Amino acid sequence: MVQTPVYMDNHATTRVDPRVVEAMLPFLSDVYGNPGSTSHVFGWEAQEAVDQARRSMAEILSASERELVFTSGATESNNLAIRGVMERLRRKGNHVVSVATEHRAVLDPLHRLGRRDCQVTLLTPHPAGHPQAGMVEPQQVADAIQDETALVTIMMANNEIGVVQPLREIGEICRERNVLFHTDATQAVGRLAVDVEQLGVDLLSCSAHKFYGPKGCGLLYVRRSPRLTRLEPLIDGGGQQHGLRSGTLNPAAIIGMCRALELANEEKDDENCRLGELRDRLFAGLQTGVPDVSLNGPSLEDRQGRLPQNLNCSFHDVDGEALLMSMKDLAVSSGSACTSANPEPSHVLRAIGLSDDLTRASLRFGLGRFSTLEEVDFAIETVSRSVERLRKLKEV
Ligand code: PMP
Repeated sequence: MVQTPVYMDNHATTRVDPRVVEAMLPFLSDVYGNPGSTSHVFGWEAQEAVDQARRSMAEILSASERELVFTSGATESNNLAIRGVMERLRRKGNHVVSVATEHRAVLDPLHRLGRRDCQVTLLTPHPAGHPQAGMVEPQQVADAIQDETALVTIMMANNEIGVVQPLREIGEICRERNVLFHTDATQAVGRLAVDVEQLGVDLLSCSAHKFYGPKGCGLLYVRRSPRLTRLEPLIDGGGQQHGLRSGTLNPAAIIGMCRALELANEEKDDENCRLGELRDRLFAGLQTGVPDVSLNGPSLEDRQGRLPQNLNCSFHDVDGEALLMSMKDLAVSSGSACTSANPEPSHVLRAIGLSDDLTRASLRFGLGRFSTLEEVDFAIETVSRSVERLRKLKEV
């Protein structure tokens, strides 16, 4: 028997792994010092734990300790990267290159800069129907870079259609052209191998709650070598984290994020194999369950080009919102949960050229560490039944 409701919305957030909770608990009780207190053992103890977490995370990402800035999550990290660079680099140029399918936490800061004196170029990725729908070609980035370009910001993996961008090639182009390269790796860290050296990025954002860590905690990687990336802080105050992000650190959350990253790093290969198979079973089951279901985003066979946890499909002639509402025991989403305050159809599906009807008829499934085969079969049955019922209602 499947325990309901079933959670299948792991791109919105993930459940904190019990092993992460265990690692955090001492820092919510006995070890309560402020890591910034340098005059007593309470502070030293907390600082030592934060330093250890910083070392471990830096090693996993192939960064150095001083290159990691702890933030409240990927929204803050993206804002710090984008606004921080553009405020600092005005003299170099005021042009930014990005992609139309980025998360709002990138598009909105860009929009704000655009209202001042920045020029923003948003690239359009491969359209629906293409086997790599949603992917940008590195050559598009090369063509968009101008003398005034100060920053390229392109996400590693998309939160709606799971497409994985060719960051390595884009990183090489940015380096050759002497342009800073930021990536929003929120959906990739913990799921894919993320090595800042191999990717050639100067700045990288991520968020603990996407990889079974706590909410309200993330980090920004800021490259220091071979060239120091200079940023203007968003938050001024006590001067913590070398003045880049003032405010008392949250040891419990940071230790939790570190444990979550360590676990993901150890387990991701096996987890990806298992979830890729479950995801394929889910799509095959939905296709058998009801007619006229189409896949959104890159082909499922493209193991490098799409997150194995992700499925996004359209159920023709069905309203996605009505479908969601009719399935109280299944937690999935239509579009991105982070923009659900805004009822507009998904800008990502629109950007790959899907019609408004098909965009409105889409659901996003996000499998995760705690998803089971029984839950996948439950989802197939629940969705098929609801789609059939809604289509029948429409006929009358
Ligand atoms: N970027 C991407 C790609 C995301 O998926 C999300 C969360 N949906 C964010 C940024 C924002 O992350 P946070 O919730 O940590 O601010």
